[in-house]
Amino acid sequence: MKEMLDRLVHLQETDEKIVALQKEEEKIPREIEEQEQIFGNSKGRLAQVQESLEELDGKFTEFSRELEEAKDQQRRSQARALAVKTQREYQAVQREGEFARKRRGELEGQVRELQEEKGILEESLLEAQQDLEGKEAALEEKRKQAEARMKAIRNEREDLQKTREVEAGLVEPELLAKYQRVFQRYRGKGIVRVTGGVCNGCFMMIPPQLYNQVLAHGGIHTCPNCGRIIYVDRE
Ligand SMILES: [Zn+2]
Repeated sequence: MKEMLDRLVHLQETDEKIVALQKEEEKIPREIEEQEQIFGNSKGRLAQVQESLEELDGKFTEFSRELEEAKDQQRRSQARALAVKTQREYQAVQREGEFARKRRGELEGQVRELQEEKGILEESLLEAQQDLEGKEAALEEKRKQAEARMKAIRNEREDLQKTREVEAGLVEPELLAKYQRVFQRYRGKGIVRVTGGVCNGCFMMIPPQLYNQVLAHGGIHTCPNCGRIIYVDRE
């Protein structure tokens, strides 16, 4: 009986490796999704900067045009000032010229500010473009790695599956069925060691009488609490 349990323990080691590979396989698409999310965010940031820059360009064009108009206005009133005849006319032209000069000054300040803002945004744009390139490369790399890992996992699993079939063939069908039921339920640990009277599956105490039977290596026993097959190490 002890030998049968040993075979089952070996089978379980193989099964646990298979489950570990399955779990790893399940994680891979999520990891890719995460990377895609990061890439998407980076794309969104770039689009935002581009939009702001376009908006700013529009403003810049508008203000530049207004500035040219103000310059023209100033030139016109300067020309008119040379041709005035009366004091009153002179004052009117003076006021007009003063107004145009102020307007020009304001617009020049605004255009300068916009230019500075534009410089900053252009830098941000460059950064966002570089960031996106980096994220794209990272995503591609992740996909490549994932594909390679999936392939390796499939191969490993196939090999383990073959080993498993051999090992399962060495276990009594009834015991095997019992083990498989519990292993599937817990996705692992269908057979566990009892140490110091405690089940290593659920960590509850095994009743003393049952523990003595387990120690005597007679028959197949299960933990009354979790239903796992229990065994003790050979002394
Ligand atoms: Zn238990």
